[in-house]
Amino acid sequence: MGGLAFTYWVYLLVIVDMLWNSFGSIDMPEAVNKQMMREVLSEVVQSFERNGFETRNVDVELGFYNLPHNALGASDCERSVFLNAMWASEEYKYSGMPLWVSTIAHEVAHVYQGNPVCWNATQDVENEAEAKAIEVLFNTKYEYAAIYEIRDLLRAYVMIEDIRNGGDGTLIYHYMKVSDTERYIYEESMAWCRENLRECGRYIEEYVEPLMLILDSSYGRAVGADKRKYWLYDDAYKFFERIGFDKCQWLSKCWE
Ligand SMILES: [Zn+2]
Repeated sequence: MGGLAFTYWVYLLVIVDMLWNSFGSIDMPEAVNKQMMREVLSEVVQSFERNGFETRNVDVELGFYNLPHNALGASDCERSVFLNAMWASEEYKYSGMPLWVSTIAHEVAHVYQGNPVCWNATQDVENEAEAKAIEVLFNTKYEYAAIYEIRDLLRAYVMIEDIRNGGDGTLIYHYMKVSDTERYIYEESMAWCRENLRECGRYIEEYVEPLMLILDSSYGRAVGADKRKYWLYDDAYKFFERIGFDKCQWLSKCWE
């Protein structure tokens, strides 16, 4: 991906995983309810406003919106954000993980893209929504959810690259400390990826490539006259600076 060597993505995974585990005891609900969703939504919308976007009245729903059963959430691209109804159950396989917070941020980003952009779910549209989700979360009290999301994206990338290179995906266990629940989910996705490598690779293009946009923080500025369309990624990039990311050292070229 991009100009970064695989070993560097592994290195980032190690650092971000250590950081995530250093939080220790973030109290995540076993079952999500609408009030919790509204609280996240309000923070996320305010974060958009602080970055120069107009105020939007967005609704949250805990329910299905033509969701495939493995989708975490969705948006109607106009005014509503949905979480998979399974989040309301303590039995959901993602129960207790902060992924629902980043899912709300991601879906709100789709609402801000609006139609017809959002409806046309191309790779660029997904990339932008994901990068914005991470960015807005860094600008709220849910910074931990942004860090968890980055950890999960790095985990997916290292796992898929391992499989692409003939491994079975378990390389990640050498580099991260995972909970029993996570191990169960990762095993499931490894098995799926080994069978469906092409579709699995598409996941990288749509959801992991945004990290590249963030690491290349001058991307936003280069194209950035229209701030509503392109993001500056400064808040998220500061995170990578904090963990010692030096783009001039690690990227094949140095953007200035
Ligand atoms: Zn999306």
